[in-house]
This record gives sequence, structure tokens and C-alpha cells, in this order.
Amino acid sequence: MEAEAPPHPVPRPSLSHSPPLPAIQQSSNSKFPRPHLPRNLVGSFGGSLVDSLRPALPPFDVSASWRIASAISSINGHDGAWPSIILISTLNIECSMFNPNPAIPQFPPLPRPKCRAMGLTYLVIFLSLGAMPWETNAAPKQEPSQSTDSMTNSEERAVKITVAYDNYECNPSLQTAWGFACLIQAGHSTVLFDTGGDGPTLLGNLEALGVDPKTIDAVVLSHPHHDHVGGLRSLLETGVRPPVYVPTEFPAEFKREIGLITMLEEVERPLEIAPGIHATGRVGTGIVEQALVVATPEGNVVITGCAHPGVSNMVYAARRIIEGEVTLVMGGFHLRSASDAQLRAIIHDLEAMGVQRVAPCHCTGDHARSFFAQAYGTNYIAAGAGWSITLH
Ligand SMILES: [Zn+2]
Ligand SMILES: [Zn+2]
Repeated sequence: MEAEAPPHPVPRPSLSHSPPLPAIQQSSNSKFPRPHLPRNLVGSFGGSLVDSLRPALPPFDVSASWRIASAISSINGHDGAWPSIILISTLNIECSMFNPNPAIPQFPPLPRPKCRAMGLTYLVIFLSLGAMPWETNAAPKQEPSQSTDSMTNSEERAVKITVAYDNYECNPSLQTAWGFACLIQAGHSTVLFDTGGDGPTLLGNLEALGVDPKTIDAVVLSHPHHDHVGGLRSLLETGVRPPVYVPTEFPAEFKREIGLITMLEEVERPLEIAPGIHATGRVGTGIVEQALVVATPEGNVVITGCAHPGVSNMVYAARRIIEGEVTLVMGGFHLRSASDAQLRAIIHDLEAMGVQRVAPCHCTGDHARSFFAQAYGTNYIAAGAGWSITLH
């Protein structure tokens, strides 16, 4: 039963004193690194070296140098050898100017000491450049995909989230009742988060949504209140046996009963339920609850059942599991008795954590919903039973 009054103050994470959030991975867009090589350095370095080695120098052969540069390029397989190629091309041109035998225009042996000096200088430089640990900027070359393939890939990566049970109405073909359930369809996985307060409403709504219970791969329960677990037994009575994931703190009797019917897994720490779908594990110390974090092409979605530990604490826990922007927080926010000051503080926390959109429903409360609507403007979503979003 939904009997608890919200704690006062509404729990919030201490953002300023908490350990740093996981670093958001920056997409590497490094520029091609070019070393600074002053002209005088090239000249003096090559000159002194050549002076000491001159007696042993063979006639410099440009074509051999070109082959060496090409070999470096093929071995390194990255942009690092390109400066060598450019340098050796320059050498080719410069040495051609000293070519004592114009009758042989292509890569003749050049006996002049000056060309030998230049040759050795450039050789040392491009060997050095080739050996440098160049930071490659080149993305793996991919064959241009066909448009149909792109569409297929895009469809496969798309994530559809549907509120299957809620006390707010969105789609009149679904029943409303006190409780919450949400269906996540991502790739080849279908996960049901919470099961609402009763079986007939849940099963009827799934049917109205065109979802066969057999397609549900896993059930994740946020917390043991009846309005979130009430539809589970009816779901299992249809004959399906999806694994059920519950926080460790669920009542022993519930765990024993469900464990006799299907696989029941207790979750304490963050757990990947399906590719890109994580349970946060236990959050809070009073009514322990877990949220679901869904990675989508548009960012992460955090889904809360009731958010008894505080919606910002749920988002905070989610942000510590997977990196990336939080594009949407949805579900029950449990703010029916929150004051305006508390609501302002929570909205501030969510904004500080980069929450872009909110879709509060279930136990959020009408006043809190209108408060969020005012604060988030067009990024506020009035979710309810039958509301659905596809992120791709
Ligand atoms: Zn609850
Ligand atoms: Zn609830």
C-alpha cells in the first residue's frame, strides 16, 4: 500500500560534498599533432652529423629514401609517416635541382656532398617522425553503408519506453489505477519495470498495447509496495517465467514465494539486466528502492517507481552507473507533500545533474507536476498510462 508520508525534508543528495561523478567520456576529436621543427635545427643537426659521417656516406639515392618512407607509412599505418613522405618529396625536388646529369631525370645517384648532407638530414628527420607515437585521428575506415542498413541499425538501436500502468491517463484505450509499471523495449530485450497494483489492469493494458507477456524477458521491481508488485502474480499465472529482480531488502516471504515460481535475483549493487539496461541496486536507507537506467541513442533515461529515497538521490545513483547525459527522468517522484522550497531545491539538483527532460507521474502529486511543468517548460512531459516515447 502507498501509505508512507514523504519524509521531511525530501531527501536530496549532497552534491557539493559527494565524490565526483564519473567523468563523462569526451569524444576524441584530436587535431593532427605537428611537431615544431625550426629550420635552423634541421640545418645544424644534419650538418654536424653529416660532417662526422661524411667519409662513410654512400651516394644518396632519393628513390631508396622514398621506399623507406613508404615502408614507414605501411608499418605505422597512421598519419605519422605522412610528414616523412612530404619531407622526402621535398628532398626529391631539391636534389633534382642539383642533379648533375639532366639526361637521367629520375632519381639519379647524386654524388654531391651537399645533397648527401641534405639526404641524411631528411632521412634522420623522417625516421624520427615515423617512430613518434602519433595520436591517430583516423576513425576506422568503414564502407559506406546502404541506406537500408542504416535504417535497420537505427531501428535496432532505438529504445521504446511505454507507461503500461499509471493513475494518470494518457491513452484512453488503457485502464488507469493507482500504481506504476513501465515497459522498456530495447533491441532484442523487453523489460517490465514494476507491475502496477493489480493483475487484470496490467494484463489488459499490455494487451491494449499489443504486448504479449511471453515477450517479456525480465521483470525488475523497484520496491515492495503493493502498487508496484500487485500485478506480478497474475503475470506469472499466464505461464511466463521471466527472471524477477528485486532489491535485497524485499520481504523474505515475497522472495520465497516468487522464487518457487521463477528465478528471483536479489539486487544489491548496480546490475546490468539486459544490454544497456541497468538496475541501480539499493538506494536509500528507509524504504530501499532501485531505479532503472536505460541507455538510449539520445542519452540515458532514469525510471523511478516511487522514488521514496528522493528523486534526486535516484538520479544521482543512476549517474554513477553509466556515463552520459540524462535525457529524461520519469516515473513516480513521490512529492505529494513537498513544499515549494523543497520542489525548487529538487529541480535545482536535477538541473545540476544535467537532467534535460522530466516525465513525472504516479505518486508525484498534481502540485509538484505543475511545478515541474513550469520549471521545465517544453521539456516537461505529462506522462500517464499509455504514454510512450521512442528514442533513436
Ligand atoms: Zn511506494
Ligand atoms: Zn507507488
